Amino acid sequence: MADMKISGRLFAPGEAKAESAELIALQGGHVTIEDASGVARSLGLSSVSDRLGRVHRKLYLSDGSVFETDDNDGIDRLLGRETHFFSRLSRIEGSGRAVAILTVVTIAVIVGIYRYGLPAAAAVAAWATPPSVTAVMDTGTLSTLDRTLFSPSDLPEKRREDLARQFAELAALSNISDATPHLIFRRSKVIGPNAFALPGGTVVMTDELVKRAHDDDEVLGVLAHELAHVEKRHGLRNLYRVLGVGFMIAAVGGDSGQIVEDVATQGAALGNLSHSRHFEEEADMRGAELMLAAGRDPFAFIDLIGRITKDEGKSGDSWLSTHPGTQSRRGAVAAHIESLKPR
Ligand SMILES: [Zn+2]
Repeated sequence: MADMKISGRLFAPGEAKAESAELIALQGGHVTIEDASGVARSLGLSSVSDRLGRVHRKLYLSDGSVFETDDNDGIDRLLGRETHFFSRLSRIEGSGRAVAILTVVTIAVIVGIYRYGLPAAAAVAAWATPPSVTAVMDTGTLSTLDRTLFSPSDLPEKRREDLARQFAELAALSNISDATPHLIFRRSKVIGPNAFALPGGTVVMTDELVKRAHDDDEVLGVLAHELAHVEKRHGLRNLYRVLGVGFMIAAVGGDSGQIVEDVATQGAALGNLSHSRHFEEEADMRGAELMLAAGRDPFAFIDLIGRITKDEGKSGDSWLSTHPGTQSRRGAVAAHIESLKPR
């Protein structure tokens, strides 16, 4: 059937360069693809990417190759005709609403980039990213970091459990939605006394930081600051600014397969992304609010930071190199707490 031919590009397994190809048939979950030299092959169809505005459609094939085309209508016609196969693609069938929302968000992201620039668009995308995707980002990043920068924690189990329990109490006071806050400990010579939050709510704290604290409020203050980064989605917003529009759209669309690959290679960068001054101030203020709500000392974390700064100077690759100086922070937190008081 001539009208069924769909022109596109075929990426051989693991290849970044495509060759032009035509999809000439789809039957019983198998596609027939003809390459530029006219050789036809039949391959199993593993999955089809959702329709997303005018983004290329991808057909994932059983041998690991990918057929990509701009002919969205052609693909939909083909899938509609293939009723047997279509019924297996419940993901497409059942997600009409999701696709509609996604289309709106995608348009908003593109309009946002056009009118307000990447940071605004990144903020929109950060709020629209499904938790399934941020969870994958966390696991991908963590496994990269575990292979490269981290060793297992050697803190006593009881100490870790005790801090994790206090962390959970603090997290319960936050307004984190669509992320699961949990605290893990690692040891790292490279990043030293440090803590950071991943988009899905995983907060990593190094043994080195815990050992420098004089009391639990100092540790909890840093954790409150990190919880604020999660609540305000700072990590995702940074990630989208760095990785750009294509990644943003894929992530918002729930394309976690691609995310795994990207994050596995970008993981280390993600963990060490330094936040903008604005994000840091926001996290300090929100962190202080959480500490107050928990009946804890909102200034304690500044003491811990001050102590580490004094010992390491400005040369360390610690939390400090990515965070503002202590003097201005103490003043800003004090002013913020003052502003919260009823008058
Ligand atoms: Zn921070």
